[in-house]
Amino acid sequence: MITEEKIKEATVGLLQRASTTLPSDILAALKEAYEKEDSPPAKMQLKAILDNVDIAGKNTKPICQDTGVPLFYVKIGKVYYGDIGKAINEGVMEATKKVPLRPNAVHPLSRKNPGNNVGRNMPYINYKVTGEPWLEIIAFPKGAGSENMSALAMLVPSQGVKGVKEFVLNTVVKAGSNPCPPTVIGVGVGGSADIAMKLAKEALLRPITQRHEEPEIAKLETELKDALNMLGIGPMGLGGRATVLGVNVEYAYCHTASLPVAVNVQCWAARKSSCRIHPDGKIEYL
Ligand code: SF4
Repeated sequence: MITEEKIKEATVGLLQRASTTLPSDILAALKEAYEKEDSPPAKMQLKAILDNVDIAGKNTKPICQDTGVPLFYVKIGKVYYGDIGKAINEGVMEATKKVPLRPNAVHPLSRKNPGNNVGRNMPYINYKVTGEPWLEIIAFPKGAGSENMSALAMLVPSQGVKGVKEFVLNTVVKAGSNPCPPTVIGVGVGGSADIAMKLAKEALLRPITQRHEEPEIAKLETELKDALNMLGIGPMGLGGRATVLGVNVEYAYCHTASLPVAVNVQCWAARKSSCRIHPDGKIEYL
């Protein structure tokens, strides 16, 4: 039995790791961007980002003052478990005090802030059932600067791949410096309006070094990344080569009369952390 106490403990550990460190693929891409950059202001920005990440890691402090809103992806395997939602809520409350996380979650209309990052439908938990012999949890805290630049378009099918590319490029141009570039761009194509948005965010869970398994989609990712890096927006919008660190695309079959496209923008602080909880209670951070 995986107890609620274990899920809570893992939630705190995941949020601590996600807030204070960057995944290795993102860190490597930032270092590579720094090496390749020849614009002095852009190089200076990348150096500041890398120094900041280094200091945060050494002091176990958040890498950005905006520690995001707590989003989770839970993969439920063939295991016995307690009340996952309750345990994650409690873990978020504890992590908010312990890490500490900025209390970002407010009522959308009254703007009332409970001060603990927990409210109706927040933390937001995406569930998936798997056949694995463990419970897997991914913490994906998302800052507002980048999330606010996300967009959806309901294209007509005749716009095709060209229309998809134009929408992604226009979204990144419109976002400019707001999402703290260099960014990672998640693109969701097909499904329905809500499915495309969901896929765009899920695309960000894949390492940026890993191309889509289908060659056509992998080609689209590479073409979009190359095109976006020709825009010259650069680190923090000060010009330069690195506008994006990566582009990941996911898709779903859709209605013959639809072509939804969604873009989820992720800032350089592309934080996420995952773990498996085994039936004996062992927490394995991945
Ligand atoms: S967009 Fe990202 S890096 Fe910029 S302030 Fe928000 S969380 Fe921090």
